Amino acid sequence: MKEIILSTFNQHKTKELSKIFGDDIRLITLRQLDFKKKIVEDGSSFIENSIIKCKQVYKKFKKPVMADDSGLCVDALNGEPGIFSARYGGQGLSDVQRYEYLLKQLKGASNLDASFVCALVLYINFNRIYIVQEETHGKITFEPRGQNGFGYDPILFLPELNKTFAELSDDDKNKISHRGKAAWIMKRVIDEIEF
Ligand code: IMP
Repeated sequence: MKEIILSTFNQHKTKELSKIFGDDIRLITLRQLDFKKKIVEDGSSFIENSIIKCKQVYKKFKKPVMADDSGLCVDALNGEPGIFSARYGGQGLSDVQRYEYLLKQLKGASNLDASFVCALVLYINFNRIYIVQEETHGKITFEPRGQNGFGYDPILFLPELNKTFAELSDDDKNKISHRGKAAWIMKRVIDEIEF
């Protein structure tokens, strides 16, 4: 069985990714490894930040590492919050406070187009890095709905499904989400390569 360290403390990401990678790929979490070091994400793109997350953990354990850097990019906010999604509006906010802050910034906007973006990186060693970036488009809704998922899920509406991300089951979210699409591709890569 292939073993990969998942460089995240986010349990929602871990849950979504584990469902896709299944039983053939063992994802080892930072919690399981008792890795507590704060990783400074000072890259200027999702991909750069994802590589940074892998590198920091690879340096310590010298084993294949995967990382997800993701966020919500809102057209009317020039792509913000983007790579700053986790800290948008300030430290210490809840998910609800954070999306309420975003809705406040968007007040009066006519273009409500937005996308979730996910850069998934598999870092086998210093010379072998696999990168997949995927996105899923939707429209921001000022009427948050749904109890599933996390983060900005209640405010990104999918017109074709007539649902927000937070109204999707985990499995349905994985079929169409930025993270799901990237992970299905990465799973095929992992199945093909040796490590
Ligand atoms: P990261 O941990 O630095 O990659 O930040 C990811 C942040 O982007 C999360 O804390 C959420 O605010 C947001 N985000 C990423 N993926 C999702 C998703 O699937 N649903 C809702 N929000 C997401």
